[in-house]
Amino acid sequence: MIALSACAAGGLLWVTNREPEPHGPHTAIDRTDAAAPRSIAGPPQFGNEPVPLPADFGGDYGRSARTISADEARAHFAIGAELLNLGDYYTAASHLAIARDGLGDQAAVCQMLAITYDRLNMASDLLDVMPCLEDAADESEAAARLYNRLAKQLDVEVEFQAAASDHFVASFPVSGTSSEEIGPVLDLLERARDRVRRDLGLGSMRLVPVVVYGHGQFEAATDKPHWVSGLYDGKIRMSIETYRNQPDFFETALTHEYVHALTHEYTGTRLPSWFREGLADGLARNGADRAIHYQPHPEVGRILGIDELNSSFMGLPEHLARAAYRQSHAMALGLVRESGWDALHDLILDLHDDRALSFDEAFYGLFGETPADYLDRWYTTTR
Ligand SMILES: [Zn+2]
Repeated sequence: MIALSACAAGGLLWVTNREPEPHGPHTAIDRTDAAAPRSIAGPPQFGNEPVPLPADFGGDYGRSARTISADEARAHFAIGAELLNLGDYYTAASHLAIARDGLGDQAAVCQMLAITYDRLNMASDLLDVMPCLEDAADESEAAARLYNRLAKQLDVEVEFQAAASDHFVASFPVSGTSSEEIGPVLDLLERARDRVRRDLGLGSMRLVPVVVYGHGQFEAATDKPHWVSGLYDGKIRMSIETYRNQPDFFETALTHEYVHALTHEYTGTRLPSWFREGLADGLARNGADRAIHYQPHPEVGRILGIDELNSSFMGLPEHLARAAYRQSHAMALGLVRESGWDALHDLILDLHDDRALSFDEAFYGLFGETPADYLDRWYTTTR
């Protein structure tokens, strides 16, 4: 069982991926250490409303001893899947674990449980579900990709501990990265959240998980191209090396990934790449300048077609990826120039309030034109 404990008396929340060792040096950071990261006072705050911890929090989480019918288990599975989709991982874990009790180790149940446990940093529970995921990997390519990704990350993150601030929970290596460094990283995250909230008027409502890797670990755990220095895949992943060597760039990259966490929480996967990346880049770089006099990236020398901006930029060669971020920034913030931040705030909030609404529908409802028409105008005036 993962050592995820809520101390009622002190109101502190410390999370570690390791088994608790009563007198071990690394099970938790010394709470009296002045240099230690800030801790949570009271239950974790998600937005303005304090969310009570589930009753079985820290116990044998979500597993039910009673026997349930297959129909009941399938109902729990459906609810768990929906909650996972909505990002309510705590409740999803509970329903999916009951579904697993009733249905056994079925591939779909194990895949969803693995994603949920990963997002919740519940490493021991994740390890428990990995053999089932490995079996599922033989049958499904999606399960195989998930298994390979999680196995690689577990390998790197097995000796990690965690600390939380008001809105973030950061995992970092027990050795090689000190709490003296994680405290400032958590401060940067809180500052990024404040800054984004000032422009966009929205802040993350749930505790955002962040993994800060030690030397060489980011590359080992993520397998991303060499030019990628941070990413968001349900967790923000960054390297402490970037913080040490390029602190300003680290803050920009951290803010970019935070915007992904925020928009994912509000809109799921409904934002097109040009808007998702453009908004993240624009908010992280603090300005709409490029939207006014957009010049193509010098190494590319041309404006990219929208078909080149329609999927993940990580699949592009480095120089094209840089151009893609820069151009998306100009496109997304062109909307701010025309309609102000309020319009982008409303767009994201509309997508949050109506989960069935598509990006195109929400966009048309607010701007009175389709995204395709807006982009046509953008291309016409920019060429
Ligand atoms: Zn991005």
